[in-house]
Amino acid sequence: MAKLTVKDLEVRGKRVLTRVDYNVPLEEKDGRMVINDVTRIRETLATLELLIEKGARIILLAHLGRPRGRREPSLSLRPVAAKLADMIHRPIAFVDDCIGEKVEQTADALKPGDILLLENVRYYGEEEANDAAFAGKLAKVADVYVNDAFGAAHRAHASTEGVARVVAGRGEVSDKINVIDRLLERADTLLIGGAMTYTFRLALGRKVGKSLVEPDRVSVAQAALEKAKARKVQLLLAMDNIVATPVETGQLNKKGRPIVEWRNPRVNDSPDIPDAEEGMDIGPKTIRTFIEIIPRAKTILWNGPMGVFEDKRFAEGTFAVARAVADATQKGAQSIVGGGDSVKALNLTGRTGQVTFVSTGGGASLEFLEGKVLPGVAALTDQ
Ligand code: ADP
Ligand code: MG
Repeated sequence: MAKLTVKDLEVRGKRVLTRVDYNVPLEEKDGRMVINDVTRIRETLATLELLIEKGARIILLAHLGRPRGRREPSLSLRPVAAKLADMIHRPIAFVDDCIGEKVEQTADALKPGDILLLENVRYYGEEEANDAAFAGKLAKVADVYVNDAFGAAHRAHASTEGVARVVAGRGEVSDKINVIDRLLERADTLLIGGAMTYTFRLALGRKVGKSLVEPDRVSVAQAALEKAKARKVQLLLAMDNIVATPVETGQLNKKGRPIVEWRNPRVNDSPDIPDAEEGMDIGPKTIRTFIEIIPRAKTILWNGPMGVFEDKRFAEGTFAVARAVADATQKGAQSIVGGGDSVKALNLTGRTGQVTFVSTGGGASLEFLEGKVLPGVAALTDQ
């Protein structure tokens, strides 16, 4: 199980959120909490010194005891900050919270080699619930995430599993979601499938299971939903999904990322996805709805597959949309398909010649329309 380690990382000047195991034995003496054994602190020194040497801005995240979602003062990590400062011969900054503005400001002010310890992550019940929105809040201060807490690695909590997923999953979806705002000024209808759906679902307070989400974009999604309402733009999210259960194989790919298999694909006919499953494609109801709406448009803009179409079990939504766009074009609509993967999917249906304009560069096709990047599926109708 060779994992990418701190030694392999380029972290100079980056904010490195490091999950450590500072669950140290404490004892009350004269009204103060005293650390009985420093083994767990000592065990982190090698990693911390390496990060310091590499010029990282270090933010430490840990739990202490079982406060069960409450601010239990006797389980504060503040004494650990003092002890760590002694042991590493450096000042350790401390913030009495693990999320929020104060944490972000202090983290932003760190210089290379500086260390900040955050308050007990279990002061929030969302930690042990592995709440996706909470993981997104933790991830706000993470350019890079490091887990040095083997002692806590057997638990899928927000500070171990959740935040790692958020950081690893950051990608192209961001560009797309930011552009929705601009599209809402031009489109009559916006159809959203694909990975972005789940960030919108979070914004609606739904459960997304293990789906790809960007919890730090939930507010963008919320704003889009409100703007759509105000402007009377029809914004439709996928209402059902094909879900599957991701299972780690214990093997790594060439990039050192764990290879995951998706088992037991099934239709999930609900806007909530169970905890162990991941949304992989739009479902049959969504397909029916989308292919009914697409032919009504005079101008169609499509960017981004509806699912993980590279796996044929999760390709039907994308292919159905590709065929609908081609059919509508044959009946007189103007269609623009942008994005390397969207075009790849269109090619697989053999309908590439039946749309108006194709660009393998998502960015380029969007500049064609005022230089904006495009989300999911957008149908723009001329008045
Ligand atoms: P394009 O290249 O057309 O702009 P993107 O690169 O943004 O499209 O997105 C394509 C990728 O998104 C594909 O590799 C696809 O597997 C992935 N994808 C689509 N839906 C999901 C989903 N529900 N969960 C995870 N990945 C998804
Ligand atoms: Mg792509």
